[in-house]
Amino acid sequence: MIVDKTGKMGGGYFEYPKNHKLGMRVPEGGSMCGNCKFLSEDHKACINKEWIKWNKGNDKLPFRDEEYCCDLYEPYKENK
Ligand code: SF4
Repeated sequence: MIVDKTGKMGGGYFEYPKNHKLGMRVPEGGSMCGNCKFLSEDHKACINKEWIKWNKGNDKLPFRDEEYCCDLYEPYKENK
């Protein structure tokens, strides 16, 4: 969940503190890149522009998709 500078949830503009770690290594089985809608087809990169920007322009995930997640996670839902 994202709270913008005015305190509204889901606002268009937000800014993290300089020392905030947007992404982190996680235990397998919960929210992770592996079940996120922004995972690339080869499961090795993220296609979320904000994450790529935070990761200094590099779209490659630093760990396996089952071992990494970030604040921008959104669950993947298959079209039915
Ligand atoms: S959890 Fe974050 S880093 Fe992983 S695919 Fe989703 S948006 Fe990208």
